[in-house]
Amino acid sequence: MRDGEQTPGVSLTPEEKLLIAKRLDEIGVDVIEAGFAAASEGEMEAVKLIAKEGLKAEICSFARGVKGDIDAALKSEVDSIFLVIPSSDIHIKHKLKKNRDEVLKLTEECVEYAKDHGLIVEFGPEDATRSDLGFLKEMIKVSLSSGADRVTPPDTVGVLTPERTYEFFSDLKKTFPNTVLGAHCHNDFGLAVANTLAALRAGVEEAHVTINGLGERAGNAALEEVVVALKLQYNVNISIKTDLLYVTSLLVSRLTGVPIQPNKAIVGENAFAHESGIHTHAILSEPSTYEAIPPEIVGRTRRFVVGKHAGAHGVMAVLEEMGLNPSENQLREILLRVKALGDKGKRVTDADLRAIAESVIGIPQIRPIKLEELTVVTGDHVTPTASVRLNVNGKILIEAATGVGPVDAAMNAIRKAVATIEPIRLEEYHVNAITGGTNAVVEVIVRLSRGDRVITAMGAHEDIVMASVEAMISGMNLLMSNNNRFKSKDF
Ligand SMILES: [Zn+2]
Repeated sequence: MRDGEQTPGVSLTPEEKLLIAKRLDEIGVDVIEAGFAAASEGEMEAVKLIAKEGLKAEICSFARGVKGDIDAALKSEVDSIFLVIPSSDIHIKHKLKKNRDEVLKLTEECVEYAKDHGLIVEFGPEDATRSDLGFLKEMIKVSLSSGADRVTPPDTVGVLTPERTYEFFSDLKKTFPNTVLGAHCHNDFGLAVANTLAALRAGVEEAHVTINGLGERAGNAALEEVVVALKLQYNVNISIKTDLLYVTSLLVSRLTGVPIQPNKAIVGENAFAHESGIHTHAILSEPSTYEAIPPEIVGRTRRFVVGKHAGAHGVMAVLEEMGLNPSENQLREILLRVKALGDKGKRVTDADLRAIAESVIGIPQIRPIKLEELTVVTGDHVTPTASVRLNVNGKILIEAATGVGPVDAAMNAIRKAVATIEPIRLEEYHVNAITGGTNAVVEVIVRLSRGDRVITAMGAHEDIVMASVEAMISGMNLLMSNNNRFKSKDF
């Protein structure tokens, strides 16, 4: 968690950090590096809050080779510290402005001081993978003779490859056979997960990982990827509750404000989505044809996406979920129109598909929610505020809300109004300006969910607030209409 929060631009409140810590504990993480107690008052408060929560996991604070850092950790009442002191000449010279002997002395003093005060000490020789191997081993030896409990030599700037990771840790394991070693791999070359797995294969017992691979620069090894690889590729009986991985990833993304890339393994939006006709046809008869990971293992469901690559089987599966049952001829016509839209470069949302299907099947387009009135006030010395008047199946709902900006205020007002009848959640929000310029039409795509059902909808308007509201209402209409009563007539 400490390294994850060091993601540029991320800063969490103590309460948010506690929420994440509780979830990490729930999924079965052994050690939680809650923060850097000496960093600020807020960090101290956060680390303390987590340490006092009585979680099963060992709670750890980061500390540099500075007495004040160890004192701060003690004050925060953590179980352990991750004590990081540079071991590479480049860090010793340019960061610490010391020499090797002084660093060995500092290591001895800090480890002894922390041990004397009852802390578990995990020693981290910083920038270990760019250090002189002989000196690194000497430093580790000093830390162990001073009482360090575990040693995690970090790949601080992410320069290892899987082969070198294996050699590096095999060598250390041979020199220190009775020491618990850990791996802390950074993702600068996109190899953090591969390197972590190589380290574990070399006999390392502990892996530092972060949710969604967050962390400094390109981040750290992603917990979800390491865990699922260990479980499915290496058949390791791992105690992490994998079915909670997705909700954990969403929680961290929401609290940090760092979105998950769509093609991210395990937790990305597209990781279990299928559009191609060939793929969806095969998956519908046997999921393992195009899925290496059963989605339910990581708490997800398979999703079919409609687009120009979609085939009849995939489109039918989505339509059936919407409660629509077109005949064969109707399905053929729907597919033609979907492909035509896709060929024009448009993203085909669920709301588009439904509108096409309804017009082909010839059923009246049912829209339970109609926008009757919307007022948004925004400016320099005013809190963005929106009031909305909706007609929901003949019932008038009036609500007002504030937000960080006009779009947020309008969406909040609509959500508040609709929440009185339906628990609908906004999962994602994307804006694209179709052309450049301030008078461009903007396209807003939203992803909404109600219970297990997730749908996408789009709004297009030259006013960004109206485009957002249109997308939101179109999506809500899709989620709220029960189509099972519609039976198709032949086309
Ligand atoms: Zn790091």
